[in-house]
Amino acid sequence: RRGWIEVVCGSMFSGKTEELIRRLTRARIARQRVEIFKPSLDTRYHTEDVVSHNAARIRSTPVAVASEILLLAAGSDVVGIDEGQFFDSSLVDVCQQLANSGIRVIVAGLDMDYLGRPFGPMPDLLATAEYVTKVHAVCVCCGEIATYSYRVVANESQVMLGETDSYEARCRPCFLEGIQAK
Ligand code: ADP
Ligand code: MG
Repeated sequence: RRGWIEVVCGSMFSGKTEELIRRLTRARIARQRVEIFKPSLDTRYHTEDVVSHNAARIRSTPVAVASEILLLAAGSDVVGIDEGQFFDSSLVDVCQQLANSGIRVIVAGLDMDYLGRPFGPMPDLLATAEYVTKVHAVCVCCGEIATYSYRVVANESQVMLGETDSYEARCRPCFLEGIQAK
């Protein structure tokens, strides 16, 4: 059996989770054994489900560290991982091992943090994946295509869980305008 890695990246509200759920649902329709994981620190909507902003959801297993996925994914055909940016760098090796053992791995995650910096293990995953899809949100300021997650509130930690109350999807010029005004 042939394994590989797919990455779905983009800003907040760009439809990463929606696209992940779409791919996993289709794999289930094809009667493949599908397992879904997310970092246990992401408990925004539901402790177990992976939930999209469009309200689509799929049952998942929260894990504290990436190595847990290796044990729990044994025997599956397809492994989905959401919020990949919240894992440490060992996620890259875990995904490689899964793919090497014949599993189709689909990772969704933020490519950039709130300052536009590459986020966690995502850049290395992007470099080593067979397939990369960058999805885009809509800029809440001007309606153009948005690639940045602009943080509305004052907080300087890289990880700050939040939703529309704390983040806005913004295009490059509107993101820069916001950053420079601060
Ligand atoms: P992500 O996982 O990338 O944060 P989701 O899959 O959870 O994205 O949500 C995508 C959905 O968010 C879209 O289908 C749309 O209904 C909604 N949405 C809310 N704000 C925006 C925005 N600014 N741009 C695009 N979609 C948005
Ligand atoms: Mg998401």
